[in-house]
Amino acid sequence: MLSDTIFLKDELATESFGQMLARATGDTTLEEIDLIANPMETHGGKIYLNGDLGAGKTTLARGLMRGYGYQGAVKSPTYTLVEPYEFSNGNIYHFDLYRLVDPEEVEYLGISDYFDDPNLCLVEWPENGKTVIPDPDLEVLLTMKDQGRELSWWARSPRGQFIAERLVIFCRNL
Ligand code: ADP
Ligand code: MG
Repeated sequence: MLSDTIFLKDELATESFGQMLARATGDTTLEEIDLIANPMETHGGKIYLNGDLGAGKTTLARGLMRGYGYQGAVKSPTYTLVEPYEFSNGNIYHFDLYRLVDPEEVEYLGISDYFDDPNLCLVEWPENGKTVIPDPDLEVLLTMKDQGRELSWWARSPRGQFIAERLVIFCRNL
């Protein structure tokens, strides 16, 4: 399964990567990637964002939302555990499980169908919920490096492989 690593020199680069991830998960064709994203349709997927506090996970999530045409505030769902973003054909759910103590809490939230297609799920601190949330299609790891961040991704399913292959191509434009 495909994996790759890139260096993101500043916050803007992390947001831009998030936009590329949006396009890689969405229905943008390779010919269209130079266009500012038209509002895209979600096709589903489960993306886990690993990395320490301050690594840039929420920044990446913000970029992804921008890639889907969402212009409003993208706040960290640290206290709410999940923030929904509703689109006409499917939703994007941004989880932050940092404060999750008991994984069963996730079940009280009634989130089991959040992970169904065509919803797209982004999960920060997925290890805190790993017994109750499904396996990812794509895993991302952000680590601090010099003044910026190093970002690696790994495909974990055929869908993740599809996303990862597109990411490799789209990131040439970063
Ligand atoms: P996390 O959600 O992983 O805790 P945040 O997305 O809240 O992290 O980001 C923490 C800080 O890191 C923010 O101040 C953001 O501007 C900064 N940041 C994000 N990406 C980069 C980068 N590539 N280089 C330098 N700083 C970055
Ligand atoms: Mg965060």
